Amino acid sequence: MLSQLNIAPTLAEFFDVPLTSQARPVEQILKFAYSHKPSVVLLMVIDSLDYPFYTEFAEDLRAIHELVERNGILFVCETVNSPTTPAIGSILTGLRPESHGIFSNEDVGKSKIKSILEILEEAGHKTALVLETGGARPLLGKVSYVFGVDDREDIFEYDELIKTHTISVLKRHDVKLVFSHIRAIDRFAHRDWDLHAAARETAENMRAIAKAISARNGMLVICGDHETHFKDKKQRKLPATVPLIVCSP
Ligand SMILES: [Zn+2]
Repeated sequence: MLSQLNIAPTLAEFFDVPLTSQARPVEQILKFAYSHKPSVVLLMVIDSLDYPFYTEFAEDLRAIHELVERNGILFVCETVNSPTTPAIGSILTGLRPESHGIFSNEDVGKSKIKSILEILEEAGHKTALVLETGGARPLLGKVSYVFGVDDREDIFEYDELIKTHTISVLKRHDVKLVFSHIRAIDRFAHRDWDLHAAARETAENMRAIAKAISARNGMLVICGDHETHFKDKKQRKLPATVPLIVCSP
């Protein structure tokens, strides 16, 4: 089975930049990318979107399922079994949390391990990051376009801002790789709120983002960061799995 660790090596191989990881690039994704020749790649992490959630809420997540049905590839992808920050660290480095050492926002600035974004920047490619302010700030000056969104109680408003920044940076023709992260499902799950509402809002955001990717003839990579964190209900079986979607909408 694929794991989140395969994502960064695959992107590195596609962009032809060096990345040190024991995980291998995914041939099927490379084939897809080489045949579509995307002008930009968006790597979108949907917080708490695990594989069981993806299937259980299929109706609400219609817009995302349609991306797969139209021309995409869907993988069941093993997580690194970590909370959000170390999981995103693994997605962006291809290394396990104990190897990249990024467990908090403070670690992002201190880590000697470079993310795929920084590696691309060093090779002369422009990249972008749309993330919560605390996680984004340490990458100012290392990544060409950094958009931080302050955390807030209204998580729909938060995701709306993430979406707006993501769509606006996709209009820049020099950007090659964009990383972005939306969080409504995670917040709603933690609070035991209506997950149908969170799933629908997330799908609508993804519909708009996919449209922006389509306008750039880009490639969209979507994955979850970890198993859905419910307030006090059933804990998922480990190792957890998340959907990994590759499409060219
Ligand atoms: Zn998370």
